[in-house]
Amino acid sequence: MNERLERLRSLFDKYKIDSLLVTNAENRRYLSGFHGSAGILFITNGQAILATDFRYTEQAVSQAPDFEILRIANNLDDWFPALCRKNNITHLGFEAFDVSYDLYCRLAEALKRHAPSCHLVPSSGIVEELRCIKDSEEIARIEKAVTISDFAFNTIAPTIQPGKTELQVAWEIEKCLRENGSENLPFEIIVASGPKSALPHAHPSERVICDGDSVVIDMGARYGGYASDLSRTICAGTPSDLFKKIYTIVLDAQTAALRIISSGITGGDADAAAREVIQQAGHGEAFGHSLGHGVGLAAHEAPRLSPGVNDPLLDGMVFTIEPGIYLSGWGGVRIEDTAVLENGELRVLSRAEKARYD
Ligand code: ZN
Repeated sequence: MNERLERLRSLFDKYKIDSLLVTNAENRRYLSGFHGSAGILFITNGQAILATDFRYTEQAVSQAPDFEILRIANNLDDWFPALCRKNNITHLGFEAFDVSYDLYCRLAEALKRHAPSCHLVPSSGIVEELRCIKDSEEIARIEKAVTISDFAFNTIAPTIQPGKTELQVAWEIEKCLRENGSENLPFEIIVASGPKSALPHAHPSERVICDGDSVVIDMGARYGGYASDLSRTICAGTPSDLFKKIYTIVLDAQTAALRIISSGITGGDADAAAREVIQQAGHGEAFGHSLGHGVGLAAHEAPRLSPGVNDPLLDGMVFTIEPGIYLSGWGGVRIEDTAVLENGELRVLSRAEKARYD
C-alpha cells in the first residue's frame, strides 16, 4: 500500500497540490485498503490519515495499517483545518467529480474560518491515473471475477429458451454468480430480448423471450473488490438471416480490434479498428457507444477506448472490447470480452462461450 501512496505523492506537483482529500469509495479503498462505506483520506507528503466515524474505526484500523486512523463525528471543523494548519497546507486537492456541492461548501467554510491560507484545488483523475495500471494482485482478482462470470454465462446460456422472461434469466444468472463466489454484482445484469435488445442498457423486464429473438446479456462478477464485465448475444430458437448477418459483423469487428490492440496503440485507434468493420458493413450509425472501458475496482473506469482518444493503452491496463450494433425496432447484438495488456500484448481473459452464426 505504501508504494501506492508514494506514486500518488509523486503526482502532487503535476496537479499543483501539496495534499489531497480522497472521498471516492474506490479511490479510498485503492489507497488505504479500507472498504467501509464512509471515510475521508487526508494525504500530505508526510502524513496519511483516514478519518472515519465510530461505526468504522475498528475496521479501519485492521484494513488500513499504513494510515493513522482518526475518529471523527460528522463535523469537519475540529480536525480538518487543524491538520492543514499543522502541515502548512496551502493547496488542498479534492475530488471534484465526487464531492457534493454540500460537502464542498462545508469544506470551504471550515477553511475560511480556521485555515484561511489553504485553498481547495479541484483535482479530478489523480488517483484514477494510478488505478488504470494494475499490479499482478489486482489482475489476479479480476481474472477470478472473469472466471466466475464466464462460468455463470456458460451455465445459464443453454437454458435460455423462448417462453422464459428476461427477469427469470437475469435472476438465474445472479444466483449462479453469487453461488460461485461473486461478492456482489458490480452492476445490474442486462438481459434484453427482441426489440428491447436495441437499447444498449435495457433493464430486464417481464417480457417473454420469443423464437428468433436476439438476447443480449451483459453482466459481471466481483471478487476481492474487483469487477469483471462480460457481454454475449445469443439467439433464442431459430436465428433469422438478419440476426446471422448482424451478429457476424459484430464478431468480425471485435476480432479486428483484438488483433490490432497491443501496448502503445491509442484508445482512439483501438476503437477505430472495430468501428471501421461496422461502418464498411453500412451500420456505422448503429454503433453508438465506445469500443471499451477500463475495469477494476469500478466496473467502468480509465482507460477509454473511444473515438478521438489519444492516450495510449499500456501494459497493466485491463479493459473491455465490446462493439455492438443496435437497430431500433428489431434488436441489437453486443459481444464483450475483458482483456489485459501484458508484455506489450493483449491477453483476453474472458472465456465464456462465443457462438458463431455463419
Ligand atoms: Zn462494459
